Amino acid sequence: MAPKVLVLGGNFAGVTAALSLKRKLGADVDVTVVSKSDRFTFNPSFIWIPFGKRTTRDVSVPIAPTFRRACVGFVHAEAVGIDPVAQEVETTRGRYLYDYLVIATGYVNDFDVVPGLGPRGNAYTITTLEGAVDAAQGWARLVNEPGPIVVGATQGAACFGAAYEFVFNVAYQLKRRGLAKRVPIRYVSAEPFPGHFGIGGLAGGERMLDLFFRMSGIEAIFDVAMEEVAPGELRLRDGRRLPFRYAMIVPPFLGAEVVKASGLGNPKGFIEVRGTYQTVSFPNVYAVGIAAAVDAPWHTANAVGVPKTGFPSERMAHVAAENIAAQIRGEEPTREERFADIPAVCIMDAGNNGVAILADRMLPPRRWGVMIPGPQNHLGKLAFERYYLWKIRRGYVQLP
Ligand SMILES: Cc1cc2nc3c(=O)[nH]c(=O)nc-3n(C[C@H](O)[C@H](O)[C@H](O)COP(=O)(O)OP(=O)(O)OC[C@H]3O[C@@H](n4cnc5c(N)ncnc54)[C@H](O)[C@@H]3O)c2cc1C
Repeated sequence: MAPKVLVLGGNFAGVTAALSLKRKLGADVDVTVVSKSDRFTFNPSFIWIPFGKRTTRDVSVPIAPTFRRACVGFVHAEAVGIDPVAQEVETTRGRYLYDYLVIATGYVNDFDVVPGLGPRGNAYTITTLEGAVDAAQGWARLVNEPGPIVVGATQGAACFGAAYEFVFNVAYQLKRRGLAKRVPIRYVSAEPFPGHFGIGGLAGGERMLDLFFRMSGIEAIFDVAMEEVAPGELRLRDGRRLPFRYAMIVPPFLGAEVVKASGLGNPKGFIEVRGTYQTVSFPNVYAVGIAAAVDAPWHTANAVGVPKTGFPSERMAHVAAENIAAQIRGEEPTREERFADIPAVCIMDAGNNGVAILADRMLPPRRWGVMIPGPQNHLGKLAFERYYLWKIRRGYVQLP
């Protein structure tokens, strides 16, 4: 009987790991994906949902047909327990045994970091699809009754790119509607300087982001922690009070509940891995994508996390697939690529403009890194979304 590989999570990292492994070994491996969601969701497009530029249907595709075509099993269920000794996963639809396990369960929002965040709180959050849909309802009200806007990322956040993209899209949308002069916009971030992005910044980035803020009429406040999001007012630890009629705040991420419940993760629920993406304790258990722990190589006054973006999430999944294939063939799992060494490839959208961010390594020290501004980046991001959803529908994870 072919060895059983179980993959938990069916988004960027999980889909890539499952399909890449199946392509490598064909009938010599039995791959099953268990995912809480039955759709692949392109999270980078959540930034456009509040402005009506995208709907929930536009940014996701059903994932079962992709797995069916690739002869990969799919179970639409939530994993609720992992027993790495018995090599068994408990899900909401039964128990599954495995020979190899890939954990790609991504993130949940940590709303506890600042009182007043969360679904019943006082600010919107666009890091989930439901949150982005709520933020759209709030935006419709704001446009009818304009008032001050605050966009920010809390201490400990990692997904700074989304906060930047959102605030520049806000400025662009207000300008289009002739509201720019009536609506003050503030951007608040724990990053030590503009353009840090949770990756330590790139040469010229600080000046470029400053220019984008000035051109968009946004007042930017950096290197600060948030104390509370009160109704209509963001309170900062340094005593400043920022009134708002609309606020969108990106919180830190935590690992999935199942990781914490199973004792496999660190206190934040992320899993310590080797350069092979094998977990430190179990050589047949891998963690990839946001589920894998990555330490920030800096100490800042306010905690700043590292963004585990789409490109490195895919690269981790390919490395894990290669190593599992080697183990199944009876070879050593020798392929290594540490998160810090993966190239940085990202586009920051700014409404009708944008910045391409490219570097030889995700984290410093780097040999080179560039930020290229221009409207071509906005068009590139729109095209990439279409391309990526096509790639996932077809299951072509071998493509870039
Ligand atoms: C607003 C926003 C904008 C972003 N923009 C960009 C960008 O421009 N460029 C970029 O490169 N990256 C961007 N990212 C980051 C990108 O979305 C992540 O890198 C990517 O989602 C990581 O993929 P993942 O598979 O590790 O985790 P996730 O995408 O979080 O997927 C986790 C999967 O696991 C499933 N799951 C969770 N728990 C369980 C469980 N217990 N059992 C079974 N299944 C489970 C979930 O349903 C989901 O399918 C952005 C993220 C956000 C939130």
